[in-house]
Amino acid sequence: KPARFDYVRAETVAHAGEILAAAGGDGKVLAGGQSLMPMINFRLVKPTVLVDINHIAGLDTIALDGGRLRLGALVRHRMTAEDGLVKAHVPVLHHAMKHVAHLTVRNRGTFCGSVCHADPAAEMPMMTLLLDGLMHTASSRGTRAVAARDFFVGSLVTALEPHEMVTAIEIDALPPGAGWGFEEFARRHGDYALASVAVVLERQGGHARNVRVATMGVGEMPARMDTVEAALEGSAMDDRALDGAVDLLRAAVAPNSDLNASADYRRHLVGALARRALADAWSRATETAQ
Ligand code: FAD
Repeated sequence: KPARFDYVRAETVAHAGEILAAAGGDGKVLAGGQSLMPMINFRLVKPTVLVDINHIAGLDTIALDGGRLRLGALVRHRMTAEDGLVKAHVPVLHHAMKHVAHLTVRNRGTFCGSVCHADPAAEMPMMTLLLDGLMHTASSRGTRAVAARDFFVGSLVTALEPHEMVTAIEIDALPPGAGWGFEEFARRHGDYALASVAVVLERQGGHARNVRVATMGVGEMPARMDTVEAALEGSAMDDRALDGAVDLLRAAVAPNSDLNASADYRRHLVGALARRALADAWSRATETAQ
């Protein structure tokens, strides 16, 4: 059972900001509730007030603007999974959503809620990092935008201040011809992954360009594999390049051992997944002008 809390249905973003400010750091935004409610019931968090944002108008849209996709705070997983803009412009995200939880959770859970929850084995934080995401926040003190690289601070910890809410998240749409790969391994479909890798790259003159590689489940938070990206930039993506990339990736991750898998197993697994994701991305990429 939860500890006592007050409940406020916010009418606007400004109203939500007022309630959060008045709560002095002990308020929590309620979006889909799929992670927050279990945590409250287990008393892992004890907010004094829940600020329900589900009835704020205008937060449930996905829009494409200047090569970037903007997902509002009430975009549910199911909408992200089925949206035509996501499918056409960010196919790697469209594919990743197939691995997220189960139908009932997808009906309620939100993209922004998942990113704010920052589970190290959740798909959306990793995709936000892969796609150079920007979190738009609002509070009684004003608005700001936080880059994904600065947003994730640790397991279930973000740079979000207690009085702030995320109103939308912006991610890159893939450029024409870009290739992508996504691999994940979970014990059962819909479970949190033991490890996952996502890749985006372009192909110019037979060489890989603008390579992006992100992992999850193999560290305290999702991570961009900077050494792997640098090593593959300009490479021919042949066996030698891929073997080298896998070695670098295994050296860069810092998985934990837990009930589900040992750290060694996770490190081995993420390398195998990376090799497949890189090869898939390369084969999907089409030659574009330099
Ligand atoms: P909530 O539960 O409402 O909130 C989560 C946290 O984020 C809270 O701290 C809340 O205050 C904060 N928050 C939410 N929205 C905002 C906002 N706009 N601004 C500021 N703070 C905010 N997720 C996966 O990615 N992959 C999975 O495979 C997966 N499997 C699952 C399986 C089960 C059985 C369950 C119950 C959940 C699973 N999830 C999985 C988690 C699911 O995706 C959640 O919906 C998601 O993590 C949180 O989104 P939410 O909208 O429900 O947020």
